[in-house]
Amino acid sequence: MTIPYDSPWMNDDLRMFRKTVRQFIQESFTPHQARWRDEHHPDAGAWTKAGAIGMLLPDVPQELGGGGGTFAHEAIVLEELARVGVHFGSSVQSIVARYIHSYGSAEQKRNWLPRMARGEVVGAVAMTEPAAGSDLQGIRTVARKEGDHYVINGSKTFITNGQQAGVICIVVKTDPKASGPRGISIILVESGLAGYRVGRPLEKVGRHGQDVCELYFEDMRVPTSNLLGPAEGRGFFQMMDQLPYERLSVALAAVAVAERAVDITAEYVKERVAFGKPLLDLQNTRMKLAECKTAAHVGRVFVDDCIKRFIAGQLDPVTAAMAKYWLTEKEFQIVDECVQLHGGYGYMIEYPIARMWTDCRVQRIYAGTNEVMKEMIAWSL
Ligand SMILES: Cc1cc2nc3c(=O)[nH]c(=O)nc-3n(C[C@H](O)[C@H](O)[C@H](O)COP(=O)(O)OP(=O)(O)OC[C@H]3O[C@@H](n4cnc5c(N)ncnc54)[C@H](O)[C@@H]3O)c2cc1C
Repeated sequence: MTIPYDSPWMNDDLRMFRKTVRQFIQESFTPHQARWRDEHHPDAGAWTKAGAIGMLLPDVPQELGGGGGTFAHEAIVLEELARVGVHFGSSVQSIVARYIHSYGSAEQKRNWLPRMARGEVVGAVAMTEPAAGSDLQGIRTVARKEGDHYVINGSKTFITNGQQAGVICIVVKTDPKASGPRGISIILVESGLAGYRVGRPLEKVGRHGQDVCELYFEDMRVPTSNLLGPAEGRGFFQMMDQLPYERLSVALAAVAVAERAVDITAEYVKERVAFGKPLLDLQNTRMKLAECKTAAHVGRVFVDDCIKRFIAGQLDPVTAAMAKYWLTEKEFQIVDECVQLHGGYGYMIEYPIARMWTDCRVQRIYAGTNEVMKEMIAWSL
Protein backbone atom coordinates (compact mmCIF):
# COMPACT_ATOMS: atom_id res chain seq x y z
CA MET A 1 0.00 0.00 0.00
CA THR A 2 2.97 2.33 0.58
CA ILE A 3 6.29 2.52 -1.19
CA PRO A 4 9.05 2.67 1.46
CA TYR A 5 10.59 6.13 1.66
CA ASP A 6 14.34 6.46 1.34
CA SER A 7 16.19 9.69 2.11
CA PRO A 8 17.53 11.23 -1.10
CA TRP A 9 21.01 11.57 0.44
CA MET A 10 21.22 7.85 1.30
CA ASN A 11 23.54 5.44 -0.51
CA ASP A 12 25.06 1.98 0.05
CA ASP A 13 28.12 3.30 1.87
CA LEU A 14 25.88 5.20 4.28
CA ARG A 15 23.62 2.17 4.78
CA MET A 16 26.65 0.14 5.85
CA PHE A 17 27.72 2.96 8.17
CA ARG A 18 24.24 3.05 9.72
CA LYS A 19 24.35 -0.69 10.32
CA THR A 20 27.72 -0.42 12.11
CA VAL A 21 26.62 2.54 14.23
CA ARG A 22 23.27 0.93 15.13
CA GLN A 23 24.91 -2.31 16.21
CA PHE A 24 27.57 -0.49 18.21
CA ILE A 25 25.01 1.63 20.09
CA GLN A 26 22.88 -1.43 20.79
CA GLU A 27 25.81 -3.44 22.15
CA SER A 28 27.98 -0.80 23.79
CA PHE A 29 25.70 2.07 24.87
CA THR A 30 22.13 0.84 25.39
CA PRO A 31 22.95 -1.68 28.14
CA HIS A 32 24.63 1.05 30.23
CA GLN A 33 21.90 3.68 30.06
CA ALA A 34 20.72 3.21 33.66
CA ARG A 35 24.26 3.83 34.93
CA TRP A 36 24.78 6.85 32.66
CA ARG A 37 21.54 8.29 34.03
CA ASP A 38 22.62 7.71 37.65
CA GLU A 39 26.06 9.19 37.07
CA HIS A 40 24.78 12.08 34.89
CA HIS A 41 27.31 11.42 32.15
CA PRO A 42 28.36 8.71 29.69
CA ASP A 43 31.12 6.29 30.73
CA ALA A 44 34.54 7.82 30.13
CA GLY A 45 35.43 4.78 28.00
CA ALA A 46 32.40 5.35 25.77
CA TRP A 47 34.25 8.14 23.96
CA THR A 48 37.26 6.11 22.84
CA LYS A 49 35.01 3.19 21.88
CA ALA A 50 32.89 5.51 19.73
CA GLY A 51 36.08 6.94 18.24
CA ALA A 52 37.34 3.48 17.34
CA ILE A 53 34.31 2.70 15.18
CA GLY A 54 34.38 6.07 13.40
CA MET A 55 31.37 7.61 15.12
CA LEU A 56 33.17 10.79 16.16
CA LEU A 57 33.89 13.58 13.69
CA PRO A 58 32.70 11.50 10.73
CA ASP A 59 32.51 14.62 8.53
CA VAL A 60 36.02 15.94 9.29
CA PRO A 61 38.69 15.24 6.63
CA GLN A 62 40.73 12.07 7.13
CA GLU A 63 44.03 13.94 7.12
CA LEU A 64 42.83 15.66 10.31
CA GLY A 65 41.84 12.37 11.90
CA GLY A 66 38.12 12.45 10.98
CA GLY A 67 36.05 10.00 8.98
CA GLY A 68 36.38 11.90 5.70
CA GLY A 69 32.63 11.74 5.12
CA THR A 70 29.93 14.36 4.75
CA PHE A 71 27.18 15.67 6.99
CA ALA A 72 25.19 12.59 5.91
CA HIS A 73 27.50 10.48 8.12
CA GLU A 74 26.96 12.85 11.02
CA ALA A 75 23.20 12.72 10.40
CA ILE A 76 23.25 8.93 10.67
CA VAL A 77 25.06 9.01 14.02
CA LEU A 78 22.61 11.59 15.40
CA GLU A 79 19.56 9.71 14.13
CA GLU A 80 20.72 6.40 15.54
CA LEU A 81 21.42 7.90 18.98
CA ALA A 82 18.10 9.79 18.98
CA ARG A 83 16.06 6.74 17.91
CA VAL A 84 17.04 4.83 21.04
CA GLY A 85 17.20 7.82 23.39
CA VAL A 86 20.93 7.67 24.08
CA HIS A 87 22.19 11.13 25.01
CA PHE A 88 25.83 11.01 24.15
CA GLY A 89 27.40 14.39 23.43
CA SER A 90 28.87 13.48 20.05
CA SER A 91 26.92 16.24 18.32
CA VAL A 92 28.65 18.81 20.55
CA GLN A 93 31.96 17.10 19.78
CA SER A 94 31.22 17.68 16.09
CA ILE A 95 30.25 21.30 16.68
CA VAL A 96 33.53 22.00 18.49
CA ALA A 97 35.40 20.27 15.67
CA ARG A 98 33.67 22.50 13.13
CA TYR A 99 34.76 25.63 15.00
CA ILE A 100 38.34 24.38 15.07
CA HIS A 101 38.24 23.17 11.48
CA SER A 102 36.66 26.37 10.16
CA TYR A 103 38.64 28.98 12.10
CA GLY A 104 41.54 27.25 13.85
CA SER A 105 45.21 27.60 12.95
CA ALA A 106 47.01 24.61 11.42
CA GLU A 107 48.55 24.01 14.84
CA GLN A 108 45.16 24.06 16.61
CA LYS A 109 43.70 21.63 14.07
CA ARG A 110 46.65 19.23 14.39
CA ASN A 111 46.58 19.49 18.15
CA TRP A 112 42.89 18.84 18.76
CA LEU A 113 41.06 17.21 15.86
CA PRO A 114 42.79 13.79 15.68
CA ARG A 115 42.48 13.33 19.45
CA MET A 116 38.83 14.40 19.37
CA ALA A 117 38.12 11.94 16.56
CA ARG A 118 39.66 9.13 18.60
CA GLY A 119 37.60 10.17 21.63
CA GLU A 120 40.68 10.90 23.70
CA VAL A 121 39.56 14.51 24.11
CA VAL A 122 35.94 15.59 24.60
CA GLY A 123 34.79 19.01 23.40
CA ALA A 124 32.29 21.52 24.77
CA VAL A 125 30.95 24.88 23.63
CA ALA A 126 30.49 27.44 26.39
CA MET A 127 28.30 30.34 25.26
CA THR A 128 25.45 30.57 27.78
CA GLU A 129 25.88 32.39 31.08
CA PRO A 130 23.59 32.70 34.07
CA ALA A 131 22.54 36.19 32.87
CA ALA A 132 22.82 35.72 29.09
CA GLY A 133 21.33 32.93 26.96
CA SER A 134 19.34 34.15 23.96
CA ASP A 135 21.00 37.55 24.24
CA LEU A 136 24.59 36.41 23.73
CA GLN A 137 25.82 39.95 23.30
CA GLY A 138 25.10 40.37 27.01
CA ILE A 139 27.77 37.90 28.16
CA ARG A 140 30.00 39.03 31.02
CA THR A 141 32.92 36.60 30.83
CA VAL A 142 35.93 38.74 30.05
CA ALA A 143 39.33 37.84 28.59
CA ARG A 144 41.81 40.57 29.45
CA LYS A 145 45.08 40.59 27.51
CA GLU A 146 48.25 40.53 29.61
CA GLY A 147 51.37 40.13 27.48
CA ASP A 148 51.06 36.89 25.52
CA HIS A 149 48.20 35.57 27.71
CA TYR A 150 44.50 36.20 28.23
CA VAL A 151 43.28 36.30 31.81
CA ILE A 152 39.72 34.97 31.81
CA ASN A 153 37.13 35.65 34.51
CA GLY A 154 33.47 34.66 34.46
CA SER A 155 31.15 31.67 34.41
CA LYS A 156 29.06 29.62 32.01
CA THR A 157 25.99 27.49 32.58
CA PHE A 158 24.12 24.60 30.93
CA ILE A 159 27.32 23.36 29.28
CA THR A 160 26.88 20.00 27.57
CA ASN A 161 29.90 17.67 28.01
CA GLY A 162 31.09 20.12 30.69
CA GLN A 163 32.32 17.54 33.19
CA GLN A 164 34.16 15.42 30.65
CA ALA A 165 35.43 18.18 28.38
CA GLY A 166 39.14 18.41 27.66
CA VAL A 167 38.77 21.35 25.26
CA ILE A 168 36.19 24.10 25.51
CA CYS A 169 35.31 26.82 23.00
CA ILE A 170 34.65 29.66 25.44
CA VAL A 171 32.79 32.72 24.22
CA VAL A 172 34.27 35.80 25.90
CA LYS A 173 34.40 39.55 25.66
CA THR A 174 37.88 40.56 24.58
CA ASP A 175 36.74 44.16 24.32
CA PRO A 176 34.00 44.85 26.90
CA LYS A 177 33.74 48.48 25.70
CA ALA A 178 33.04 47.61 22.05
CA SER A 179 29.42 48.07 21.04
CA GLY A 180 27.30 45.22 19.68
CA PRO A 181 28.95 41.96 18.75
CA ARG A 182 32.38 43.34 17.92
CA GLY A 183 33.90 42.79 21.34
CA ILE A 184 33.16 39.06 21.35
CA SER A 185 35.75 36.34 20.64
CA ILE A 186 36.06 32.59 21.04
CA ILE A 187 39.04 31.16 22.89
CA LEU A 188 39.99 27.48 22.96
CA VAL A 189 40.68 26.44 26.50
CA GLU A 190 42.13 23.24 27.85
CA SER A 191 40.29 22.03 30.96
CA GLY A 192 42.19 21.73 34.19
CA LEU A 193 44.11 25.01 33.96
CA ALA A 194 44.64 26.95 37.18
CA GLY A 195 41.45 28.95 37.78
CA TYR A 196 39.23 26.51 35.83
CA ARG A 197 36.46 24.88 37.87
CA VAL A 198 33.65 22.52 36.91
CA GLY A 199 30.36 22.86 38.80
CA ARG A 200 28.05 20.09 39.90
CA PRO A 201 26.00 18.16 37.32
CA LEU A 202 22.73 20.02 36.77
CA GLU A 203 19.52 18.16 37.67
CA LYS A 204 17.46 18.19 34.49
CA VAL A 205 13.87 17.19 33.84
CA GLY A 206 15.03 14.55 31.38
CA ARG A 207 18.18 13.46 29.54
CA HIS A 208 19.66 12.39 32.86
CA GLY A 209 22.55 10.60 31.17
CA GLN A 210 23.70 13.77 29.44
CA ASP A 211 26.58 15.66 31.00
CA VAL A 212 25.41 19.26 31.56
CA CYS A 213 27.01 21.53 34.16
CA GLU A 214 28.35 24.95 35.05
CA LEU A 215 31.92 26.14 34.45
CA TYR A 216 33.78 28.84 36.39
CA PHE A 217 36.89 30.77 35.43
CA GLU A 218 38.89 32.77 37.95
CA ASP A 219 42.01 34.54 36.72
CA MET A 220 42.50 31.67 34.29
CA ARG A 221 45.57 32.34 32.12
CA VAL A 222 45.40 31.11 28.52
CA PRO A 223 48.01 31.80 25.80
CA THR A 224 46.84 34.38 23.25
CA SER A 225 47.60 31.78 20.55
CA ASN A 226 44.45 29.95 21.76
CA LEU A 227 42.25 32.64 20.20
CA LEU A 228 40.07 31.09 17.50
CA GLY A 229 40.57 32.90 14.22
CA PRO A 230 43.07 35.49 13.04
CA ALA A 231 41.84 38.44 15.13
CA GLU A 232 39.75 39.36 18.14
CA GLY A 233 36.12 40.39 17.70
CA ARG A 234 35.09 37.62 15.31
CA GLY A 235 33.39 35.34 17.84
CA PHE A 236 29.81 36.45 17.32
CA PHE A 237 30.08 36.10 13.55
CA GLN A 238 31.73 32.67 13.91
CA MET A 239 28.81 31.54 16.07
CA MET A 240 26.22 32.88 13.61
CA ASP A 241 27.99 30.99 10.81
CA GLN A 242 28.05 27.70 12.70
CA LEU A 243 24.58 27.76 14.24
CA PRO A 244 22.82 26.27 11.16
CA TYR A 245 24.88 23.10 11.66
CA GLU A 246 23.81 22.85 15.30
CA ARG A 247 20.19 23.66 14.48
CA LEU A 248 20.03 21.09 11.70
CA SER A 249 21.46 18.50 14.10
CA VAL A 250 18.69 19.26 16.59
CA ALA A 251 16.04 19.17 13.85
CA LEU A 252 17.06 15.81 12.46
CA ALA A 253 17.18 14.23 15.90
CA ALA A 254 13.64 15.59 16.40
CA VAL A 255 12.42 13.77 13.30
CA ALA A 256 14.11 10.52 14.35
CA VAL A 257 12.42 10.70 17.76
CA ALA A 258 9.00 11.53 16.23
CA GLU A 259 9.24 8.55 13.84
CA ARG A 260 10.24 6.23 16.66
CA ALA A 261 7.41 7.49 18.87
CA VAL A 262 4.89 6.65 16.14
CA ASP A 263 6.42 3.19 15.61
CA ILE A 264 6.44 2.17 19.26
CA THR A 265 2.96 3.57 19.84
CA ALA A 266 1.57 1.72 16.82
CA GLU A 267 2.95 -1.51 18.32
CA TYR A 268 1.53 -0.68 21.74
CA VAL A 269 -2.01 0.04 20.55
CA LYS A 270 -2.10 -3.20 18.59
CA GLU A 271 -1.34 -5.15 21.78
CA ARG A 272 -3.26 -3.21 24.42
CA VAL A 273 -6.90 -4.24 24.72
CA ALA A 274 -9.76 -2.05 26.02
CA PHE A 275 -13.47 -2.76 25.80
CA GLY A 276 -12.66 -6.17 24.30
CA LYS A 277 -10.57 -5.00 21.38
CA PRO A 278 -7.12 -3.56 20.65
CA LEU A 279 -6.82 0.20 21.13
CA LEU A 280 -6.04 0.47 17.43
CA ASP A 281 -9.62 -0.54 16.65
CA LEU A 282 -10.85 2.68 18.28
CA GLN A 283 -11.32 5.33 15.65
CA ASN A 284 -9.74 8.05 17.80
CA THR A 285 -6.54 6.01 18.12
CA ARG A 286 -6.35 5.51 14.36
CA MET A 287 -7.05 9.19 13.62
CA LYS A 288 -4.45 10.43 16.12
CA LEU A 289 -1.78 8.03 14.91
CA ALA A 290 -2.57 8.88 11.29
CA GLU A 291 -2.04 12.57 12.11
CA CYS A 292 1.22 11.81 13.93
CA LYS A 293 2.55 9.60 11.14
CA THR A 294 1.72 12.22 8.53
CA ALA A 295 3.38 15.02 10.52
CA ALA A 296 6.48 12.87 11.09
CA HIS A 297 6.69 12.13 7.38
CA VAL A 298 6.31 15.79 6.39
CA GLY A 299 9.10 16.49 8.89
CA ARG A 300 11.25 13.77 7.36
CA VAL A 301 10.91 15.17 3.85
CA PHE A 302 11.71 18.70 5.08
CA VAL A 303 14.73 17.66 7.12
CA ASP A 304 16.05 15.51 4.28
CA ASP A 305 15.86 18.52 2.01
CA CYS A 306 17.79 20.55 4.62
CA ILE A 307 20.43 17.81 4.89
CA LYS A 308 20.80 17.72 1.10
CA ARG A 309 21.13 21.48 1.00
CA PHE A 310 23.62 21.50 3.86
CA ILE A 311 25.82 18.93 2.10
CA ALA A 312 25.67 21.11 -1.04
CA GLY A 313 26.65 24.18 1.03
CA GLN A 314 23.24 25.74 0.47
CA LEU A 315 21.44 25.63 3.80
CA ASP A 316 20.77 29.23 4.78
CA PRO A 317 20.35 30.29 8.44
CA VAL A 318 16.65 31.09 8.03
CA THR A 319 15.77 27.66 6.65
CA ALA A 320 17.86 26.05 9.41
CA ALA A 321 15.88 28.12 11.94
CA MET A 322 12.61 26.96 10.35
CA ALA A 323 13.73 23.34 10.61
CA LYS A 324 14.82 23.72 14.23
CA TYR A 325 11.65 25.50 15.31
CA TRP A 326 9.04 23.57 13.37
CA LEU A 327 10.44 20.08 13.72
CA THR A 328 11.03 20.34 17.47
CA GLU A 329 7.46 21.65 17.93
CA LYS A 330 6.13 18.72 15.90
CA GLU A 331 8.35 16.31 17.81
CA PHE A 332 6.89 17.44 21.11
CA GLN A 333 3.28 17.34 19.83
CA ILE A 334 3.73 13.86 18.40
CA VAL A 335 5.46 12.44 21.47
CA ASP A 336 2.85 14.02 23.73
CA GLU A 337 0.02 12.48 21.68
CA CYS A 338 1.78 9.12 21.84
CA VAL A 339 2.05 9.40 25.64
CA GLN A 340 -1.73 9.95 25.70
CA LEU A 341 -2.31 6.84 23.61
CA HIS A 342 -0.25 4.80 26.11
CA GLY A 343 -2.57 5.88 28.94
CA GLY A 344 -1.03 5.66 32.44
CA TYR A 345 1.86 3.57 31.13
CA GLY A 346 2.89 6.56 29.06
CA TYR A 347 3.67 8.37 32.31
CA MET A 348 5.83 5.56 33.69
CA ILE A 349 9.52 6.20 33.21
CA GLU A 350 10.24 2.53 32.46
CA TYR A 351 8.31 3.00 29.20
CA PRO A 352 10.44 4.51 26.41
CA ILE A 353 7.65 6.91 25.41
CA ALA A 354 7.70 8.53 28.88
CA ARG A 355 11.45 9.09 28.64
CA MET A 356 11.08 10.48 25.13
CA TRP A 357 8.57 12.98 26.48
CA THR A 358 10.83 14.28 29.26
CA ASP A 359 13.87 14.18 26.99
CA CYS A 360 12.42 16.06 24.04
CA ARG A 361 11.03 19.08 25.89
CA VAL A 362 14.39 20.84 25.85
CA GLN A 363 14.68 20.60 22.08
CA ARG A 364 12.46 23.71 21.85
CA ILE A 365 14.80 25.59 24.19
CA TYR A 366 18.46 24.96 23.40
CA ALA A 367 20.44 25.78 20.24
CA GLY A 368 18.44 29.03 20.18
CA THR A 369 14.91 29.00 21.59
CA ASN A 370 12.05 28.54 19.15
CA GLU A 371 10.95 32.11 19.81
CA VAL A 372 14.37 33.33 18.71
CA MET A 373 14.07 31.06 15.64
CA LYS A 374 10.76 32.72 14.76
CA GLU A 375 12.31 36.18 15.14
CA MET A 376 15.03 35.13 12.68
CA ILE A 377 12.46 33.81 10.23
CA ALA A 378 10.43 37.00 10.60
CA TRP A 379 13.46 39.15 9.70
CA SER A 380 13.41 37.48 6.28
CA LEU A 381 9.82 38.48 5.57
C1 LIG B 1 20.00 20.63 28.45
C2 LIG B 1 20.64 21.91 27.96
C3 LIG B 1 21.86 21.84 27.29
C4 LIG B 1 22.48 23.02 26.87
N1 LIG B 1 23.73 22.97 26.30
C5 LIG B 1 24.40 24.13 26.08
C6 LIG B 1 25.76 24.11 25.67
O1 LIG B 1 26.38 23.05 25.46
N2 LIG B 1 26.41 25.30 25.50
C7 LIG B 1 25.79 26.49 25.71
O2 LIG B 1 26.43 27.53 25.57
N3 LIG B 1 24.48 26.56 26.08
C8 LIG B 1 23.80 25.39 26.28
N4 LIG B 1 22.47 25.45 26.69
C9 LIG B 1 21.84 26.74 26.90
C10 LIG B 1 20.74 27.08 25.90
O3 LIG B 1 21.27 27.29 24.63
C11 LIG B 1 19.97 28.26 26.46
O4 LIG B 1 19.23 27.78 27.58
C12 LIG B 1 19.04 28.92 25.46
O5 LIG B 1 19.78 29.57 24.46
C13 LIG B 1 18.09 29.92 26.10
O6 LIG B 1 18.77 30.83 26.92
P1 LIG B 1 18.24 31.08 28.42
O7 LIG B 1 18.10 29.74 29.06
O8 LIG B 1 19.14 32.06 29.06
O9 LIG B 1 16.80 31.67 28.25
P2 LIG B 1 16.42 33.25 28.01
O10 LIG B 1 17.29 33.79 26.94
O11 LIG B 1 16.39 33.93 29.33
O12 LIG B 1 14.94 33.10 27.46
C14 LIG B 1 13.80 32.96 28.32
C15 LIG B 1 12.55 33.05 27.46
O13 LIG B 1 12.50 34.32 26.80
C16 LIG B 1 12.35 34.14 25.42
N5 LIG B 1 13.09 35.14 24.65
C17 LIG B 1 14.36 35.56 24.82
N6 LIG B 1 14.70 36.44 23.87
C18 LIG B 1 13.63 36.58 23.07
C19 LIG B 1 13.32 37.34 21.91
N7 LIG B 1 14.22 38.16 21.36
N8 LIG B 1 12.09 37.26 21.38
C20 LIG B 1 11.16 36.44 21.92
N9 LIG B 1 11.37 35.69 23.01
C21 LIG B 1 12.58 35.75 23.58
C22 LIG B 1 12.96 32.77 25.14
O14 LIG B 1 12.48 32.24 23.91
C23 LIG B 1 12.50 32.00 26.36
O15 LIG B 1 11.20 31.55 26.15
C24 LIG B 1 21.82 24.27 27.07
C25 LIG B 1 20.59 24.31 27.71
C26 LIG B 1 20.01 23.15 28.16
C27 LIG B 1 18.69 23.26 28.89
